[in-house]
Amino acid sequence: TLTDRLSRLVKTMRGQARITEDNVQEMMREVRMALLEADVALPVVRDFIARVKEKALGQEVVGSLNPGQVLVSVVNKELAATMGEGVADINLNAQPPAVILMAGLQGAGKTTTTGKLAKHLIEKRKKKVLTVSADVYRPAAIEQLKMVTKQAGAEWFPSEPNQKPHDIALAAIDYARRHYFDVLLVDTAGRLAIDEALMAEIRDLHATLNPVETLFVVDAMQGQDAINTAKAFKEALPLTGIVLTKLDGDSRGGAALSVRQITGAPIKFAGTSEKIDGLEVFDAQRHAGRILGMGDIVALVEEVQKGVDVEAAQKLAEKLKSGSGFDLNDFLAQISQMKKMGGLSSLMDKLPTQMTAKAGQPDMDKAERDMKRMEGILNAMTAKERRQPSLLMDGKSKASRKRRIATGAGVQIQDVNRLLNQFDQMQGMMKKMKGGGLMKMMKRMGG
Ligand code: GDP
Ligand code: MG
Repeated sequence: TLTDRLSRLVKTMRGQARITEDNVQEMMREVRMALLEADVALPVVRDFIARVKEKALGQEVVGSLNPGQVLVSVVNKELAATMGEGVADINLNAQPPAVILMAGLQGAGKTTTTGKLAKHLIEKRKKKVLTVSADVYRPAAIEQLKMVTKQAGAEWFPSEPNQKPHDIALAAIDYARRHYFDVLLVDTAGRLAIDEALMAEIRDLHATLNPVETLFVVDAMQGQDAINTAKAFKEALPLTGIVLTKLDGDSRGGAALSVRQITGAPIKFAGTSEKIDGLEVFDAQRHAGRILGMGDIVALVEEVQKGVDVEAAQKLAEKLKSGSGFDLNDFLAQISQMKKMGGLSSLMDKLPTQMTAKAGQPDMDKAERDMKRMEGILNAMTAKERRQPSLLMDGKSKASRKRRIATGAGVQIQDVNRLLNQFDQMQGMMKKMKGGGLMKMMKRMGG
């Protein structure tokens, strides 16, 4: 899997301080393979790789991360950004009834999605919803819409196979207006492949209905072909959004990237089952993880990046290199960094299980309590004492200083001594590591 391959590469990249042309090359080969395996179309993959390379080159590697991890996070971010950040709900900004036109190949999931959308708009947006089928080629299609509309609790406007789609559209919109519907959902005929007559028909429907949303419904399992379908529909219609169906299948969903890139329209929803409630607002971030097949590692890397104060980490690294040593101020800074990342237990949760299993099952609550107590003690010290811990370890007035600190932090003198011991050990460890080493330190503290 990509996760295995990338983690292998991540290992070989350990110890390098920045991302270079050399180390990016091999990594990009793996990402390219992963995207192709996820069925992202080739030209889309090429564009994507070029963008990632440009963003990644020269990036500093901060804190306890290594270049491989930083690169994974750049890839993931770019992937999510390409598929659209934030959520894009249905736009209903129109003189009622707001018309939503469903377009896509036969079998893509238009009729099913029409029912799901009706339910979504009723429940989440409190709208009065009417549906109508302009699929006059298959009598069963009209019945199917009638059924899902009933499940959704919306109203269905009857149409018949001998009518013209154009006339159905006009009748439905007239009915919706007269009965004060907020939304009219128009299901259309499927096309098995791109067919000029059917494209002309849906263009005419678009002109007649003037929809506020024209949704392109596409099957996530369609893979490489999605790019051609998307091109044809984009040329025929001004698409305003995409619904990616059948994401509950075993496809890695690479079609999302292709379709988004080709149409430029936001992916608004994902279909996640055949049932009426199988519709979710599309989450680009989560989908990026699915395409790469490595959600957990990515989440951890992002978390570490968020929490690490880059400047502080660099200063610390400088200090250690210059030999001036790790003092209690640094100790305090490390503790607040951990807090920013949501504490020990939230970080341990994100680590792959193989890693935490080895560390046994540390008592996280206790570790968190200890950390808080240590922070209190450190804060009760003067800046000078933190800078010069020797004042507390072998200074003349160490006893009175420790007493003052213990009182200030509301702890016992033994607690202060324990912290100084831990600090002493850590100082030795930091010297050996010569660098951030946040993760190692945390594991030691947790276990
Ligand atoms: P249309 O021809 O575009 O109207 O497609 P349909 O709505 O009739 O759907 C075609 C088939 O795909 C049906 O069997 C649906 O139940 C199924 N389907 C649609 N959306 C989803 C989905 O999100 N997940 C799954 N598993 N099946 C879906
Ligand atoms: Mg249909």
